[in-house]
Amino acid sequence: MTMTIKKSGNSGPDLAFSINAKVKAAQAKFGKENVINAVLGTLANDEGNIIALDSFYKRLETMDRGLIASYAPIEGEKAFRETVLDLLFDDSRPDAYMEVVSTPGGTGAIRNGIFSYADIGDPVICHDYFWQPYQKMCIEFDRDFRTYNFFTKNFKFDLEAYKACQDQALKDHDRMVSIINSPGNNPTGYSLSDEEWDRVLEISNEAVAKGKKITLIIDVAYIEFAGNGEQKKFFKKFSKLPENLMVLVAFSMSKAYTAYGLRSGAVVGISSSKEVIDDFKEAMATSARCNWSNGVHAPQLILVDLAKDENKGEYDKELASLKAMLKERADVFVKKAAEHKIDIIPYFGGFFAFVPTDRAFEITKKLEKENIFTIPSAKGIRIALCATNKKDVVKLVERLAFYMDK
Ligand code: PLP
Repeated sequence: MTMTIKKSGNSGPDLAFSINAKVKAAQAKFGKENVINAVLGTLANDEGNIIALDSFYKRLETMDRGLIASYAPIEGEKAFRETVLDLLFDDSRPDAYMEVVSTPGGTGAIRNGIFSYADIGDPVICHDYFWQPYQKMCIEFDRDFRTYNFFTKNFKFDLEAYKACQDQALKDHDRMVSIINSPGNNPTGYSLSDEEWDRVLEISNEAVAKGKKITLIIDVAYIEFAGNGEQKKFFKKFSKLPENLMVLVAFSMSKAYTAYGLRSGAVVGISSSKEVIDDFKEAMATSARCNWSNGVHAPQLILVDLAKDENKGEYDKELASLKAMLKERADVFVKKAAEHKIDIIPYFGGFFAFVPTDRAFEITKKLEKENIFTIPSAKGIRIALCATNKKDVVKLVERLAFYMDK
């Protein structure tokens, strides 16, 4: 017997975290050096230890305890909210009304966005390579999660599929949320080009011109790993949007600041209407109060300090070294996959590599018997290059090729 209200499709443990538990058990039994861990989206050094940035954690270690212990304002520290806008948009700040409300990571931002901008039964559309929690949240809140084909044959964003999905969704609904995880999509690394963003906005505009309400939730969890600044240019396009086209950006401190467990981020609202943006701020703050109350104070204060001119160089240097480490691992992966004639989603950058196959669950089970851990999904196998060293990447590809009969 169970006492909870079960929502079909939403029971059972989270796949990534349950496989991560198997990694930990295997490491305890066989020794860390005998386990290949390509599971979670957390950066690890070549010894498999999680990386915690010096620039970030030395500030936490020396922070006044009273500050760490204290509540942050519900919507987040004012300086934090201003810093989020500066860091996120750089010099591509949209000409629009904007507000920021702190959240526990990008997860909280996405959660609040779905909850407030789609009603029960409303469609939430997303590309068909996606981060599982989007779907789980929609099931939890009774929102109607639908997917469309992500890529054309040439690995471009499938705009026709996007439009068809939007049209279908709005056939019998007046509002819709569209989640786009770009730049640096998880699991494919893909970033929509500026032209593709133009088309997404044109497609949205066609529907909003007919009175429909559309909210784009843009999940930028990996943005700092998806380019050297040029990947932020598309934000400028969210200037002077129609009033019934709202943009929410989910900002996360997890990946870019190695602050995964400190749970900090923000939801940023962008609108041409002051009324719409005031309503956004109130809705996000209310949801915060009802769910987690306040964001974690310390990471907000650290972000503000790190963004100061005199400190920025210190952080930028560390970020650059993380990007270089990822690139080296990815180069090895791409080369070895080609040698073994394994088809992959082209590596566009970021934390993961992806091997499409409809045998993902069967193959990853076999790999697990050899203490090689990856994440299977209906579309294929996700390999967390962020967590694996180059030597392990070579072995992983060899064994993958073996089980894929390559
Ligand atoms: N979005 C994507 C695509 C992710 O992969 C993650 C974390 O793995 C998140 C959002 C949210 O991360 P957090 O809530 O830790 O900021």
